[in-house]
Amino acid sequence: MKLVISALTLILLSFNISSSQILQNDTYQYFVDLNKADNDQLEIELITPVISTATTEFKLPAMVPGTYKVYNFGRFISGLKAFDNSGNELKTEKKDVDTWEISNADKLYRLKYFVDDSFDDTSDNKVFEPAGTSIEKDTVFIFNNHGFFGYFKENLKNEYVLNFTKPEGFYGSSSLVNTLRSNNLEVFTAPDYQFVVDNPIMFCLPDTTTINFDETSVMISVYSPGKGISSADLSAKLKVLLTAIRNFLGGKLSADRYTFLFYFTNKEGSGSFGALEHNYSSLYFMPDVPKESAPYMINQLQSTSAHEFYHTVTPLNLHSEEIGNFDFNDPKMSKHLWLYEGVTEYFADYIQLREGLVDLKEYGKNIERKISGSMMFNDSLPFTEMSLGALGKYEEQYFNVYQKGALIGLSLDILIREESNGIMGLQDVINIMLQKYGKDKSFKDEDLFDEIVALTSPKIGEFFQKYVAGDQRIPYSEIFSKVGIKVKSIPYNKIDMGGIQMGFNQKTYRLVIRQIAEDNSFVKDLGVKSGDELVSINGKEINFMTMRDIFGSLKNKIKEGDNFEMVVARNDESGTEKMETLKAVVSKVKTAFDSEVIVEKELSEQQMKLKTAWLGK
Ligand SMILES: [Zn+2]
Repeated sequence: MKLVISALTLILLSFNISSSQILQNDTYQYFVDLNKADNDQLEIELITPVISTATTEFKLPAMVPGTYKVYNFGRFISGLKAFDNSGNELKTEKKDVDTWEISNADKLYRLKYFVDDSFDDTSDNKVFEPAGTSIEKDTVFIFNNHGFFGYFKENLKNEYVLNFTKPEGFYGSSSLVNTLRSNNLEVFTAPDYQFVVDNPIMFCLPDTTTINFDETSVMISVYSPGKGISSADLSAKLKVLLTAIRNFLGGKLSADRYTFLFYFTNKEGSGSFGALEHNYSSLYFMPDVPKESAPYMINQLQSTSAHEFYHTVTPLNLHSEEIGNFDFNDPKMSKHLWLYEGVTEYFADYIQLREGLVDLKEYGKNIERKISGSMMFNDSLPFTEMSLGALGKYEEQYFNVYQKGALIGLSLDILIREESNGIMGLQDVINIMLQKYGKDKSFKDEDLFDEIVALTSPKIGEFFQKYVAGDQRIPYSEIFSKVGIKVKSIPYNKIDMGGIQMGFNQKTYRLVIRQIAEDNSFVKDLGVKSGDELVSINGKEINFMTMRDIFGSLKNKIKEGDNFEMVVARNDESGTEKMETLKAVVSKVKTAFDSEVIVEKELSEQQMKLKTAWLGK
């Protein structure tokens, strides 16, 4: 990297990075002093670009790419004030949660406001931490920049300069271009707002390791409060993984630089862990673990890291207009989450299989988990429809992108190989499309299926129409057996609860009954009410691990006549939570199916041929 000290930063140095007397130009010049964090709040100062209109709107995003959820980052902003260059205050008016209208904008020079972090948010719409912000004075700062820095509607393409004063010895890890780094100052630049949002920064005392490939330098940056996991521990595993991905993608990684930002937490968060992808980095939020458990956590992170890294292929370089022309404050959904998330999830595991990091038996277990997982969701809801409705009415179905979405990927890969006599796979189709499209060129949502069919065969079109855009169930057993993977359906009894609908309370971490069928006799006998939160069943605590089993599963065998006892948390009229024990005899069971995946040993010639093509050996 080249260290560039611009005239501007030299001026700033002599003023210790304060914004006084800064010349206004076309650039957003932001100033933040991390030492002044107070009560998990930071003051942000912006010397605005020159605005030529009489009024303007300052915005923070409602949504950012990759999250598929509206968070309204404006709700973390308070005390916004606008000034001209003589320090006179200009009139501002809040238009909606994310928008401030500023009068006499042609005189606007400076904005000041406070930002609260999202990690400490206690509202129901808690931000998934990999997209969120953290302000912990003298400890760690997560700058998902969209939570701190805004934009003017007409000036989305202007350059950004982010000036930070930081605690002594802190380091800002990011793939943003760093133009100044000293013991207590750090300056980053970005060509436009999209780039600012796409490149998070993590500030803390550094624990970093760099892996170099010919074309790419990959930095691993770790914050682990208990020091149980280090960047050196992670880099050994990630080097093997990245080498595998690089081989698979034709011997070259797609970005010229990449930063893995790992934030390990010892606090309770939103309830989910995970990561968010960007073009040049990914940010991980995972539980901090003691040194003894580090190998287990690092194994876990292998698949997550593969998933995030594969995102540099799709959606980042292969996407529809809804994503390419992303509207931060009026986001539109694409029909193709099966591609962006599903195919990504498929390749994250498949690359590890193909490059020998996991074996076929382990991979089979993975398919088994995905089939079972997908059965918890509405399997006859067309995936394209779910995708379009992921921000609203199908929000609770979104998680199926990692289950059924990945199985769609596997099915397509096998069928494309069969149709091409083993010559072509799904990645080859994607490679052709990557040449036509890219970061700055989007495909049309409506045209994607036809384009893929043109590159493959009508049978692939049939698959899309029936199983991705249609409501038919994918015949996994028929498709996967083409490469010798047998899917066995095993029946089990499940209590017939009628049309019960469940949700999850992120504050109490409990399953909650959202809706019940009034006409179901078992539900009536039990006396369960909508709003009840499930605590235990037959003396067993209900949690993430056991929730699939509660009304009957292969593990939890249930039959008619069994006694059923459930403890629920229920609010009384005054809103006080009380535990209620509900009892009933199981009156009616229905048959459900779980799946077992078996890797077949005896294969026909045709199966052998296709399996060899699929595994590349
Ligand atoms: Zn993803």
